[in-house]
Amino acid sequence: MNLCDIKTIKQIMAVYGLKFRKEFGQNFLTNRMVVEDIADSCCDGRSGTVLEIGPGIGTLTAELAARYENVIALEIDKSLIPVLAYTLEDFKNVRVINEDAMKADLREILSPYFEGGISVCANLPYYITTPILMKLLESGLPFDYITIMIQSEVADRLCAKAGSRDCGAITTVLSYYGTAEKLFTVSAGNFMPPPKVNSSVVRIKLYKDKPYKPKNEDIFFRTVKAAFEQRRKTLPNALASGFSELSKETLTSLIVECGLSADIRGEKLDTETFVALSDKITKAIAANHA
Ligand code: SAM
Repeated sequence: MNLCDIKTIKQIMAVYGLKFRKEFGQNFLTNRMVVEDIADSCCDGRSGTVLEIGPGIGTLTAELAARYENVIALEIDKSLIPVLAYTLEDFKNVRVINEDAMKADLREILSPYFEGGISVCANLPYYITTPILMKLLESGLPFDYITIMIQSEVADRLCAKAGSRDCGAITTVLSYYGTAEKLFTVSAGNFMPPPKVNSSVVRIKLYKDKPYKPKNEDIFFRTVKAAFEQRRKTLPNALASGFSELSKETLTSLIVECGLSADIRGEKLDTETFVALSDKITKAIAANHA
């Protein structure tokens, strides 16, 4: 069965009485080469198990199942479950779970598979790309890679260099957990129905041992968030909005102590500098409470 074939997709949808659900970001891949490329490159052959978020009708799932030991697929749309039982019936190494990836207890689902190595591979629904990525990164689960198809604009942000125009809070947060590389771009014509934007595949390699060790992780993330939330403001002004417990004068002197100019903007800082600055903020907050 060729799940990339538009006629086959239409037939399956008709037989099961389904419509593409916009609210679930359902844009199914129709180009076999793209699907194979994603499956081939998603984890460098390192992981035995792949978690897929949003299998749809099972197009990518089948390619993953042909290459990896186990595939765990989380699908929110209940009406796709009987379709997946049919399209994936030949694969005994696939477990489909009808759950919202945002609510699922990933540790409980995935812990039996940790030993053989685990990665994530997904053509993500665009309405929820960043929350899902943040959940995966913050989960603390031992993923080797997270490979995701996302809107090209978001892909550029994830892979941006510190200080560049595309850089955002998510760029710095991601660089804390691992390194991102854009593998390739996929135009809208390779999906059914075609989305309004082009997509790109980004592969994130997660650090086994993070090179950055902030004294207080929460304050590190607060520093990054504050710096980018008010990105048109200078860093002291942006941080003053995010850290009401410290005065703007204190924040300015901490910025200067890091060897930065007081009128710098947050987007110019690299991850290491954010860690150094957040450590100083952590110390200043502790001193305030002393
Ligand atoms: N993997 C298929 C493909 O590449 O053709 C479908 C990808 S489609 C862009 C996104 C899929 O994610 C849909 O099947 C949709 O129902 C599912 N989905 C949307 N939100 C989800 C969520 N919160 N948790 C799990 N699956 C979700």
